[in-house]
Amino acid sequence: MKVGVLALQGDVREHIKALNACNINPIEVRRPSELAEVDALVLPGGESTTIGQLSEIFGLYDLIKARISQGMPVYGSCAGMILLANEVLDAKVGQKIFGGLDITVRRNAFGRQVDSFESDIDFADGSAAKVRAVFIRAPWVEKTGPDVQILASVESHPVAVRSKSLFATSFHPELTGDHRIHRYFIEEVARPALEKVK
Ligand code: GLN
Repeated sequence: MKVGVLALQGDVREHIKALNACNINPIEVRRPSELAEVDALVLPGGESTTIGQLSEIFGLYDLIKARISQGMPVYGSCAGMILLANEVLDAKVGQKIFGGLDITVRRNAFGRQVDSFESDIDFADGSAAKVRAVFIRAPWVEKTGPDVQILASVESHPVAVRSKSLFATSFHPELTGDHRIHRYFIEEVARPALEKVK
């Protein structure tokens, strides 16, 4: 499986390291030819408005949207979750998102209370162990469509969601050294989705 990390802005290196720990050697995606090579894509944490804008400048915006609608597995963390959402509240005027995941997120939702925080949360992948979740000016999910599975919540706000081959967390698992979330994306989301289209 060839996995790409969208490498326009944000914590790209950290996602690459987390994927390496899952035996994946990802490629950095900055141009259309690199996107064409990958089967699955990670949208890193960073600044969603900047990533959206740069994706247009680099000629990737329409291509990523098209790949998402064709079923490419995508994992978005934090800014990446915003970019995957169908609707964004408190978006910057004219903010470009890819969409595809049937959720409404509110940008900087936790950040209005505290800029960042960490918490040990339950993640519904069948393991009883908690996941250390780092939230940095994080969005939360305000609304989920009928096909969206909620995998983790904080204060009754969903912070990890999945629908078919799209998966998103409002926290940053790439910053903790616990690679369970990336492993979940590779083994439970991307691999089964790609097996199906073979
Ligand atoms: N607040 C940022 C945004 O709107 C996301 C923060 C993050 O990725 N840590 O894009």
